[in-house]
Amino acid sequence: MVRDFLQETRFLEYPNVKIIKPKPLSNSLLNRIHSQAYLDKVRRISETGEGEIDIDTPGFKGIYDNARITSGATVTGIHAIHSKEADHIYSPTGGFHHARFETGGGFCIFNDVAASVYHLKDQGYERILIADFDVHHGNGTQTYFYDDPGVMQISFHEDPEWMYPHDGFIEDIGHGSGRGYNVNMHFPMDSGDAVYRYAFDEIVPPLLQFFQPEFILFLPGFDAHYDDPLTHMNLTMDTIRYVAEKIHSAAHRWANGRLGVVSGGGYNRNVFRCGAGVVMSVLTGHEYKPPTQTPPFEDDDSIWAEVKENTQKVQDLVFSALGI
Ligand SMILES: [Zn+2]
Ligand SMILES: [Zn+2]
Repeated sequence: MVRDFLQETRFLEYPNVKIIKPKPLSNSLLNRIHSQAYLDKVRRISETGEGEIDIDTPGFKGIYDNARITSGATVTGIHAIHSKEADHIYSPTGGFHHARFETGGGFCIFNDVAASVYHLKDQGYERILIADFDVHHGNGTQTYFYDDPGVMQISFHEDPEWMYPHDGFIEDIGHGSGRGYNVNMHFPMDSGDAVYRYAFDEIVPPLLQFFQPEFILFLPGFDAHYDDPLTHMNLTMDTIRYVAEKIHSAAHRWANGRLGVVSGGGYNRNVFRCGAGVVMSVLTGHEYKPPTQTPPFEDDDSIWAEVKENTQKVQDLVFSALGI
């Protein structure tokens, strides 16, 4: 679907755009991100097509190889940036941030974000930023690096009280020497562009300035759009672009441009296509205008009050832990 869209919008014809052929995720990375018991289980389900990865994540025949190539695509792209074959990459099928060491879940089989971080650490990177703006908390990825000050994860998501995966609370700021490097900001149902940009501007720039990432992995949050059928946020594509542009600038400012983008979730096909267009536009510098965005309503006083309170709480906890 994304490839057809990129052909229609002629992104693939630009001289600064190329397709990199993905390699399956290596066994050594697979064994670092998942337990042998879980890998065996995925393999068994894959052979028969029977059984489920998790309660919300059905299995199918060939799921093992499918997951290896979709997650491997992210690592292939990340490596292409490291080896200077590309400045930025976009892996449309990547962003499996709910998978953790012992299990998958939330439509995620193998955690390509964690695999990419391990791969980057092997190449000597010491400050890797995971900028996770998917509307769901990056709960799986968080488990791998919770005590690691070399990996900062910023996750903006819908309130875990009612939204899958029901964790990612503001108090969860990391452990040990990783305290302050795990940043969770959540939003009440119906939050729109204005409050989201407010929270972004208050929280993210000081963290970037402090951390000065050498590499950024970015999930742009197509499923935080007002037309997404599985979630309850009220963002337009304009804010998805706003965040993507800020993260892209940060990559150029701090990380020599090293930016890997993975789609993460997005359950309205049209929104997903527009999101891919916005990401490609930001990464390549070529124009793309999605259809006019009209959210159903604006942020009201109670949303503003809650977002301001949450933002203040993040600043109080995280900034003081980091000494910002
Ligand atoms: Zn999501
Ligand atoms: Zn750039």
